[in-house]
Amino acid sequence: MSHPTPPYVPRIRDPRTPIIVAIDGPAAAGKSSTARWVSERLGFYHIDSGALYRAATVAVLRASPEGSQWDESDVLRAAQRVSTRDEGRAFVLLVDGVELEQEMRGGAVTQHVSRVAQMRGVRDWVNTQVRTLAKGRSVVVDGRDIGTVVFPEAHLKIFLIADPWERARRRLIQRLGRSPADQEIAEETERLVQRDARDSTQTVQSKDAVLIDTTYLTQAEQVERIVALVKVLR
Ligand code: C5P
Repeated sequence: MSHPTPPYVPRIRDPRTPIIVAIDGPAAAGKSSTARWVSERLGFYHIDSGALYRAATVAVLRASPEGSQWDESDVLRAAQRVSTRDEGRAFVLLVDGVELEQEMRGGAVTQHVSRVAQMRGVRDWVNTQVRTLAKGRSVVVDGRDIGTVVFPEAHLKIFLIADPWERARRRLIQRLGRSPADQEIAEETERLVQRDARDSTQTVQSKDAVLIDTTYLTQAEQVERIVALVKVLR
């Protein structure tokens, strides 16, 4: 019986080289929380690219609450009001100089963000922001296309997946702070599967990514696996 060959993780010879770790995958696969945790363990910066799409969506929603009317130029104009503040190991996002909190994760933003993220100019804007924030730093960047489009040269690429039911269950526990009923999980699974479909064109697994299925892993276990892979790089 032949065994699959694990993806080759090349070593970085110069210890001053900033390391780029890309974490991609579908909605609610735990990318952002895993990326944050991995970055804390390694002393790297965390960049959440989805948060930039969300911040642009908050800005355009404030300018014009009727989402069906927007075109790319409206979103790009609104995105000019998005800025970042360096918090040491992460970046806080602001709109009109005010920090974004819950609004960015709310239903209206989640409903519109995929359409905003399909606009070519908006993707270019986010990609430029991410590359600028990452310049000269070791970073863990999470999103959908980080290992393929934003940093095809990333030193380590992870593609995180999990069973949709399990992703929905985790998302609800996070949101509700309690164990959800099966009916609630079924409804959330339906919403997630729909968002996966809307995001399918931009969610791309790089050929050289390490695939991690987290369905049966704890968050600590998935973080440990990624940290161990980064340690192989040096
Ligand atoms: O990761 P999160 O769910 O916060 O991302 C919000 C949305 O931003 C996604 O549903 C997707 O439409 C978009 N996105 C993207 N490319 C990325 C990151 C996020 O299209 N690299």
